[in-house]
Amino acid sequence: MVKTFERTIFVMNILSETVFENTLEFARKLDREDPLNKFREEFFIPRKDGSEMIYFCGNSLGLQPKNAPEAIEQEMRDWRELGVKGHFTAKHPWFSYHHFLTQSTARLVGAKESEVVVMNSLTVNLQLMLTSFYRPEGKRYKIMVENGPFPSDHYAVESQLNLHGYDWEDGLIECKPREGEHILKTEDIIETIERNANDLAVVVFGGVNYYSGQFFDHKAIVEAAHKAGAICGFDEAHATGNLPLKLHDWDADFAVWCSYKYLNSGPGGTSGVFVHERHGNNPEIPRLAGWWGNDEKTRFEMKPGFHPQPGAAGWQLSNAQVLPMAIHKASLEIFDQAGMLALREKSIKLTGYLEWLIQQIPNAEFEIITPADPDQRGCQLSILTGANGKTLHEKLTEQGVVSDWREPNVIRVAPVPLYNTFEEVYRFVQILVS
Ligand SMILES: *Cc1c(COP(=O)(O)O)cnc(C)c1O
Repeated sequence: MVKTFERTIFVMNILSETVFENTLEFARKLDREDPLNKFREEFFIPRKDGSEMIYFCGNSLGLQPKNAPEAIEQEMRDWRELGVKGHFTAKHPWFSYHHFLTQSTARLVGAKESEVVVMNSLTVNLQLMLTSFYRPEGKRYKIMVENGPFPSDHYAVESQLNLHGYDWEDGLIECKPREGEHILKTEDIIETIERNANDLAVVVFGGVNYYSGQFFDHKAIVEAAHKAGAICGFDEAHATGNLPLKLHDWDADFAVWCSYKYLNSGPGGTSGVFVHERHGNNPEIPRLAGWWGNDEKTRFEMKPGFHPQPGAAGWQLSNAQVLPMAIHKASLEIFDQAGMLALREKSIKLTGYLEWLIQQIPNAEFEIITPADPDQRGCQLSILTGANGKTLHEKLTEQGVVSDWREPNVIRVAPVPLYNTFEEVYRFVQILVS
């Protein structure tokens, strides 16, 4: 395993201080000592029969921040009272709305401000990025993905191969784990890249795989892809807001993510894009263009002849989706207050406690397939169940736990550091063994 040294030290410091205990009292003590415990108050927690549910599904749809309704209402009010003039005179002028998201977004993914933009939705953005960065030539036409990527990403890659006249089953390389294993070894990913070096056009990985919860060593993968002469991009849907990212330093070519999972920005919420500045500053890169990507100074001259803005903003097509962006803006304010490093610190402990409690269960009929190394995972643990997995999941649901079932036999649970507690982790495991 090629390690990012800095991260490993960080993780070791957090866990070496902690000796866990299997009691409610201990879980409550961890909550009292948690410097982020006040952030739970910022969210609406769904209820069942009058009691708060144990919501471990923030990896699928994050909870509603309490500042979101007013953020939407502000835009509704400005629209009501100003009509079209709101583009320039609203409290947050709509003409510039995406700019209000840039600073926080850049911080969240470790990018320069010019390297990020918020627009569209996730799969659309993945298609836009592949349209620009998948440029097959001669023998070099293959696309490599991680084992079992999210189906939408798989379809996106299939369709890009088909669009360029290839048979996707020939053009798609899926990096497989070793026999009997669930997670990928970094050395095997690198070996697969090297073995296909002459054929590979693009490597595109989910930064955190949605099924296994494995967080990949981005730096090592980018390095290997570049050495092979390929472009390297990531789908960070399960990573953004979950782990601190360093997309610029890792030298990724592009990345995309959604805002409705760990970023709590509402169903179907808007999406983010990263384009490394070496591409962003190159107007020659082919793209699907629209007026919002044109140079802002000449946008309203309404003339033919597209001149992209420098940076990721040059990939925009349409004017800003103000309503979903208003929620996103409100949600990002909470991330700025909490800080991604502090969230990660709590997350390592919270998920570490969940893992430790599960390990204490005698003769368990399930196993955790997410990597045991905290450097290789975020919030989520994926529990591979036995023959009665579906019944187990139904029991959890019945008792007020929101987790999800992923075919063929995995229950995914994601305690989220912004609003979940150590007590919930403890109570979850009590229900699991009941
Ligand atoms: C959630 C998720 C999607 C969903 O795509 P949408 O376009 O937002 O519907 C796609 N890819 C990954 C990796 C995801 O985790």
